[in-house]
Amino acid sequence: MSFVVALTGGIGSGKTTVAELFAARGAVLVDTDAIAHDLSGPQGAAMPAIQAAFGNAVLRADGGLDRTAMRRLAFADPVAKSKLEEILHPLIRLHSEACCAAAENAPYVLLVVPLLVETASYRRRADRVLVIDCDEALQITRVTARSGLSVEAVQAIMAAQATRAQRREVADDVLLNDGGLDALLPEIDGLHQRYLELASAKLHAGR
Ligand code: ADP
Repeated sequence: MSFVVALTGGIGSGKTTVAELFAARGAVLVDTDAIAHDLSGPQGAAMPAIQAAFGNAVLRADGGLDRTAMRRLAFADPVAKSKLEEILHPLIRLHSEACCAAAENAPYVLLVVPLLVETASYRRRADRVLVIDCDEALQITRVTARSGLSVEAVQAIMAAQATRAQRREVADDVLLNDGGLDALLPEIDGLHQRYLELASAKLHAGR
């Protein structure tokens, strides 16, 4: 089994940006959000169960999930929200496990899990946890600029996520992403070297 670094952080903390910088250095990315997207896209493995649970009202013409309709439904009805999670979460876990297993020749795997603090099973699977930490006001600025969401909408998403303190509690490594990219690159180089060494140590210990 390859060495797995789980990466997490709040919305707008910079997970995608940081993950791509690690990938450029040779880490293999497994992104649970991207997997969720595929599962609920046209022909996605979760779609038959989603259609059976919620009917055609949450389907787009191409057979994929109408995310806006689903979000509205889940927001209005907590039972619908947990039903959707009961369908998606086990599939995301299965598919991400398969992707990690398929990456056995990778130097190491970077498993991006936005809700890592909230889901213990991913933490158990990770050899190392990397948390992207970021000032909350900056998270709001970044997400409103990126998505057009209102400040209140971003605050509501952040309120439903783990706090900075809860994330730091599960972290082996913390990357502070409060500055520009220039400040981040040497830190990423250092962590990448560290992960290569730890991955190699795990490989040799397993022989
Ligand atoms: P997440 O995946 O955690 O939601 P992103 O990586 O998408 O966060 O970052 C949110 C936004 O902030 C993006 O538009 C990204 O380009 C920008 N961003 C992230 N980190 C930095 C940084 N260090 N300097 C400048 N912009 C950044």
